[in-house]
Amino acid sequence: MHRDIEHVLFSEEDILKGIEAVAAEVTEVYRGQDWTVVSVLKGSCIFASDLVRRIPIPLQMAFVAAHSYGDGTRPGELHVDFLPNEDEIQGCNLLLVDDILDTGRTMFALKNELLSRGATEVKTCVFLDKPSRRELRLEPDFRVFEVRDEFVVGYGLDFAGRYRNLPYVGALKPSVFECTQGERS
Ligand code: 5GP
Ligand code: MG
Repeated sequence: MHRDIEHVLFSEEDILKGIEAVAAEVTEVYRGQDWTVVSVLKGSCIFASDLVRRIPIPLQMAFVAAHSYGDGTRPGELHVDFLPNEDEIQGCNLLLVDDILDTGRTMFALKNELLSRGATEVKTCVFLDKPSRRELRLEPDFRVFEVRDEFVVGYGLDFAGRYRNLPYVGALKPSVFECTQGERS
């Protein structure tokens, strides 16, 4: 697995330092509120679990799952697999957490879906932000790192279902992309 990585963008140490700073910002915004962290599966499960453990105020957790079938590195049509229960959405202040904000289609669709089902407020928090690829007007309320237009894996982010368990974020060697059809979530 490690030998498929061309270079490391963020080490484990960089990641935890970055998350600590964002966790402090999130804490100040939600202090005193009743609120829920909604992790977008599968990609954000590792980020969400490191984030919530650095937030020292009460919160609840819920999960949504969405995936797009693309060619492995480019997005296709988005499918929402499941949403939180009605009582976890209606009248709730939600912080939607995802691994990366790329074109913005995933967060845009999920945010609208949760608002149309009665959420009071939906803010967004992403581990990585790739603003150069944005197709929709959507800026994250919180983000840990900005990245340039380069396909990255690790720390929850996959290529063809693999590499999510890398403890750092890295760019794959171009040779790995050859002849691979992938599913992304
Ligand atoms: P968006 O809907 O914003 O275009 O894309 C969001 C989803 O695409 C992310 O949740 C992630 O699954 C996938 N994605 C976008 N860019 C990358 C990337 O550089 N690496 C990986 N592994 N997935 C990405
Ligand atoms: Mg994802």
